[in-house]
Amino acid sequence: MKKKKYSTQTRLVHDATGHRQPGLGLGTVNPPIYRGSTLLYDDFSQIAEWNERRKRSGEVGYGIMGSDTTMALEEILAELDGGSHAVATSSGLSAVSLALTACLESGDHLLIADNVYGPARLFADGFLKKYGVETTFFDPLDLGTTERMIQSNTKVIYFETPGSLTFEMPDARGLYSMARKHKIISIVDTTWPTSLYYPAVKEGADISLAAGTKYYAGHSDAFFGIVIGNEKVGPMLRHQSTLMGNHVGPDDVYLALRGLRTLKVRLDAISKSAVKVAKYLEKHPKIMSVRHPALPKSPGHEHWKEQFTGSTGLFGAFLSPKFTRAASERMVESLELFGIGYSWGGFESLAVLYDLPAYRSAPDWDKAFKDFGPLLRLQIGLEEPDELISDLNKALEALS
Ligand SMILES: *Cc1c(COP(=O)(O)O)cnc(C)c1O
Repeated sequence: MKKKKYSTQTRLVHDATGHRQPGLGLGTVNPPIYRGSTLLYDDFSQIAEWNERRKRSGEVGYGIMGSDTTMALEEILAELDGGSHAVATSSGLSAVSLALTACLESGDHLLIADNVYGPARLFADGFLKKYGVETTFFDPLDLGTTERMIQSNTKVIYFETPGSLTFEMPDARGLYSMARKHKIISIVDTTWPTSLYYPAVKEGADISLAAGTKYYAGHSDAFFGIVIGNEKVGPMLRHQSTLMGNHVGPDDVYLALRGLRTLKVRLDAISKSAVKVAKYLEKHPKIMSVRHPALPKSPGHEHWKEQFTGSTGLFGAFLSPKFTRAASERMVESLELFGIGYSWGGFESLAVLYDLPAYRSAPDWDKAFKDFGPLLRLQIGLEEPDELISDLNKALEALS
């Protein structure tokens, strides 16, 4: 890792720009897009030398490991998060599967927060189970009960800050220290805050992973994931990536780096707009509960306030139970500025509806959601926030 001479913001702008790479004559601002499976060597002694270097640093020796640009992306994200190692992956979900399979083996027990991203649940329950890993889902707001779920074979604890869909913010520091006490590896999905607002490895996680598809790339046009580890687990992650044939395409690496240049200005703007929209919804009589970690009434807000330096644009709002799913669908369809679509983290606002029971299984999970109506999930983009609010206002007026 390079010496940290400049601030994160300056490094996000300057690192891995084309004209700083030796041997590239044109001096373009952006790095070239390298396309290559085969890498050519001068002679066999160079192969031997590269193999030695690769063992130490995970350096590129074959095109599947990416290019200098991939390494620049990994390096800057490792630094942003406070980790010693980072591996770029082909998607956010592949970051999840790489981290879990690197740490777990047959006979192990995995603890997963009940509010995680749906496909991560499915990966545990639907894939790891076949390979002899047992999964238990825990209430992310209840540390005491979670600690009692730890078994002699518990190897990994996995959670999100905050959880997808309902946005409960766990006491991440409490979970890391619990994990350390029981010699369990902690893995945290930091897609929502990004490493900019929440450097998880620096905060005490063993592994921090994120869907770069969302805010890092930031324009709804690329797929990649990032897995960052500390000294203890970092080499395991690189090894697993090689075994699994993981690769990120050169265009996506380029778009990822380009997205990082504007990460801070985008997130600072999105964060302000989202809080404004969330506060508007909180006061609306047709909304029962708004789930955005920066709002004091949102579950786990105190942990967000204490441990995070910013908030972002994805949040949930439960409608009043008087409204049916069908009426809520018509309301969403009437929005002019919010597209109906999954994924998030781009420049444009989105709205979708979720049926919570499909995504929960911890004992008594539904107690906290008794008499709640349909769940609306909003992604706030870079539009003028007052126009987003009037759009929502018009749609909610018509909702009956
Ligand atoms: C979207 C998402 C992922 C998966 O990212 P993809 O790039 O779409 O595979 C993982 N975790 C969270 C929290 C997400 O929102």
